[in-house]
Amino acid sequence: MSLPNKSNEKSNLLITADQEVETSAFTTKLEDFVNWSRKNSLWPLPFGTACCAIEYMGVVGSHYDVSRFGAEVVRFSPRQSDCMLVLGTVVEKMGPVLKQVYDQMLEPKWVIAVGVCASSGGFYRAYHVMQGIDEIIPVDVYVPGCPPTPEGIIYGMMKLQEKIKKGGIVRARDRHKVTGK
Ligand code: SF4
Repeated sequence: MSLPNKSNEKSNLLITADQEVETSAFTTKLEDFVNWSRKNSLWPLPFGTACCAIEYMGVVGSHYDVSRFGAEVVRFSPRQSDCMLVLGTVVEKMGPVLKQVYDQMLEPKWVIAVGVCASSGGFYRAYHVMQGIDEIIPVDVYVPGCPPTPEGIIYGMMKLQEKIKKGGIVRARDRHKVTGK
């Protein structure tokens, strides 16, 4: 009967440890990991002022199932949200309210302008309607349409996810330059 070879035992143990790491662990960068978790756990704040808000109600319904994207936890509190969706016409009087709600959201935060009214004032070429919310807050994604379809809104959310995935860990104020009034 031969005695066990100590060096063979050691190398066998090393191979087993390497195989274990390959099957049960992975390596990544902190930035990638943080952005991956952020993009898949958006908590929306719907700032609904008009008909586009009705389309958004369709998006969170069971047919479209926005929880597939981890974005079904709709909050109406800026302290608990990181993704503002502006859904509808924003008149000049409403501007300061929108800005205050945005300012109360914690970093990191993102904004989707849903529909032409929020994006550019739409067909309201009038003195009392804001000609796009990017006059007062930074916008990450613009969803066209009047009204945009639920599919269009979901596409906008997916575009935002792509943007978050590619983006670094930076503040909103560094990501955007707000034109301001
Ligand atoms: S974009 Fe069209 S559907 Fe949306 S709020 Fe404006 S008028 Fe209504």
